Order: sequence, then structure tokens, then C-alpha cells
Amino acid sequence: MNLVFLGPPGAGKGTIASQAKKHYGIPHISTGDLFRNHIKGETDLGKQVKAILAGGDLVPDSITIAMVKERLAEDDAKNGFILDGFPRTIAQAEALKMMVQLDAVVNFELGREQVIKRLSGRRMCKSTGRIYHLTYDPPKREGIDDETGEALIQRDDDKPEAIEHRLDVYLEQTEPLISFYKREGLLVDVDASPSPNNVMAQMVSVLKG
Ligand code: AMP
Repeated sequence: MNLVFLGPPGAGKGTIASQAKKHYGIPHISTGDLFRNHIKGETDLGKQVKAILAGGDLVPDSITIAMVKERLAEDDAKNGFILDGFPRTIAQAEALKMMVQLDAVVNFELGREQVIKRLSGRRMCKSTGRIYHLTYDPPKREGIDDETGEALIQRDDDKPEAIEHRLDVYLEQTEPLISFYKREGLLVDVDASPSPNNVMAQMVSVLKG
């Protein structure tokens, strides 16, 4: 199954993707995680995009498309994938159309106020990428990852000044993809406001399997 997860930052795409990858037995490909790994590894690409991510802007299409093309060519993506955070622009969606045939685009719907609430409480384990929320999904010990014992961090782009900007970027550049994929007959809407288990169940039901 070739899936795209669409929706504003903080809608829970990454959380649902980590459940869905087990359910469907396909890899979860998050362009945000790929970029963050490059930054952590201090690669040339990482150095190029570090400031862009910190400010909540989009990495140029040419760089992002090349990275995704390379990732989709890997063996584990041959039998399907979940693309999370890509495409984010019409140009990226056009490029993706030339690379693969999609089965569905899941649109995770969540209002602005709830997005801000979710993003500002989000914390992450830097080495594993595991996500927590101060209110909705806190770690067992405050500020500490349950598995690794490492201190949790707040992503630079989850800080208040970057959140508003990321939402504006989403509305301007990414939201037009909803109409794009509606026209392609691929869009399925999911209400992203309930618990992850509920959202997952909605998605499985709407994808029929
Ligand atoms: P995410 O983890 O999906 O919220 O992505 C974090 C950041 O990575 C974004 O704010 C962008 O700076 C960058 N990024 C991720 N995916 C893309 C994309 N498809 N196009 C451009 N920039 C991206």
C-alpha cells in the first residue's frame, strides 16, 4: 500500500504512522526525520538545512525531492510505504506522481488551536525520535525517555515563535494539496482530534484493511 499522510504539523501523523507501519508492514518515511538525521550526523545536507528547519521554513523542493526519490528506491519501500511530511508543495506532489502510483492520501484534520496545544507540549527523545506530550502522553519520569533514560528535548521548531510560522507555511504551501488530491480521487479525510487509537481505527476503516 502506497500512502501519503497529509495534515498540519502536530496532527499526529508521526504517531499514527508508527502504528500503521506495523499494521500494514510497510516503512514509515518521514522527511522531517530524514532531515533531522542529516543534521544530527552533520552531513553536508544536514548543514545546508539546519537553519531552515529551526525557523520552520520549507527546504527547497529540489533538495527534498532528490532525497525522497533516493529513499523510495530502497528495497524496503518496494512493497509500499507511508510518506509522512511529503509532499508539502504542489511541485513535490507533481514530482511524486512521476515516481510512484499512490493508493490513498490520508488527510488528518485538526484545527489551529488544537495544533498549537499539541505542538507546544510535544517532547522528543533525540536518539530514537520517540514522541511524548506533556499532557496527553507524558513519560513515566518527568523529562526522561522511558526506554533510553535520556533527557527529552523540545524541537526548536516546536517553540512558540516557530509554531505560528509553520502553521502559516502549512496553510499557504501545503493545504492546496487537499484540493489537488481530491481532484486525483485519492483523498480520504480522518478526524485527527480523538485519541491515537481512535484515529488509527478510523483510518483502517476508511482504507478498508
Ligand atoms: P516535520 O517533522 O514533518 O514537521 O518536518 C520538520 C521540518 O523539516 C519542516 O518544518 C521543514 O523545515 C522540513 N521538511 C520536512 N518535510 C519537508 C518537505 N516535504 N518539504 C520541505 N521541507 C520539509
